[in-house]
Amino acid sequence: MYEQGVIRPPSEASSLLVRVTRNCPWNRCLFCPAYKGTTFSKRGVEEVMSDIDAMAEDYAPHIQMITSAFLQDADSLLLPTTELVAIIEHIKKRFPNITNITTYARAQSLKRKSVDDYKTLKEAGLTRIHTGMESGSAALLQMVRKGSTPEDMITGGLRVKEGGISLSEYIMPGLGGRTLSTEHALETAKLLNTIRPDHIRVRTFAMHPQSPMLKMVEEGVFVPMSDDEIVAEIRLLVANLDEMHSYFHCGDFSLNLLMQVDGYLDTDKAAMLHELDAFLSLTKEQKQAYTLLQRSNPSLQHPINVVKDPKVMEQLLPEIEKLEKRGADGFKQYIQHLMSYQLPQPQTDNWQ
Ligand code: SF4
Repeated sequence: MYEQGVIRPPSEASSLLVRVTRNCPWNRCLFCPAYKGTTFSKRGVEEVMSDIDAMAEDYAPHIQMITSAFLQDADSLLLPTTELVAIIEHIKKRFPNITNITTYARAQSLKRKSVDDYKTLKEAGLTRIHTGMESGSAALLQMVRKGSTPEDMITGGLRVKEGGISLSEYIMPGLGGRTLSTEHALETAKLLNTIRPDHIRVRTFAMHPQSPMLKMVEEGVFVPMSDDEIVAEIRLLVANLDEMHSYFHCGDFSLNLLMQVDGYLDTDKAAMLHELDAFLSLTKEQKQAYTLLQRSNPSLQHPINVVKDPKVMEQLLPEIEKLEKRGADGFKQYIQHLMSYQLPQPQTDNWQ
């Protein structure tokens, strides 16, 4: 028997999952349902090694096919470097074909380690760190209780890169609502241009029905954005990103409306802007129709031109009208409801 956590990045779908800590040590971000209702704890090195041994026995018949591992849960870099090295070395000993070992980490933990720590971890076999930036706006990070500042993110991110480890930053369009949208896009672009991570992963904001952010909506502090407003925000962000060798990912997350906006900023930025503009130039009804299609079938990626087909519009317009008649913002609320199904469930009914 061995322990595994429930969360890993989509890019680690085929990785061996090795749980080195349990849950999230911060767990206060207002937008994140992932670990709510759980308690953080560290695991001992011996315990983790015994899990790795058990997995090696279980996977023995096809162990040669396992080439990557992911260290769980939300912030493995909280562990001392010596412990992480021992765990990574044990993974490589028991799974000899593993060449990629990656993990999640918070900016607070990233900045506590030195460049030499990252060089040591890289030499042991840690190849990539995934970290949640969410936004470059200090005001927005404070509003959603991220617990990290843009300065923390710069310090930690640049050290990871200097240590030779690939860096993957997650950002969340829509998180600032209408009020902070422009600042969110511009400050996030500025921070990404400073850190220049290898990967930028877009995670469009969706509100969980139990989220404390609902109270902020009632109080008028947070005004949720519609899909087309979020696309406009992403357009502003992309336009302000340097043409650097960073991969801008929308295609690995189905809450991103335009998953086809995906590519290297140094070679594909113009094509990505073109796609964003193609959506933004649609009529209001065509945008709604595209949103309805995509949100109803998130695993499919529809070309934007699909809503220029009169037959498609003939089928979708009556549905949109029906939703609009449900009341003010009826269509928008239906779409937000569909999006919320794609979020992880908190393990509590009392998410504060
Ligand atoms: S976003 Fe990350 S740091 Fe924040 S509560 Fe969720 S797992 Fe923890």
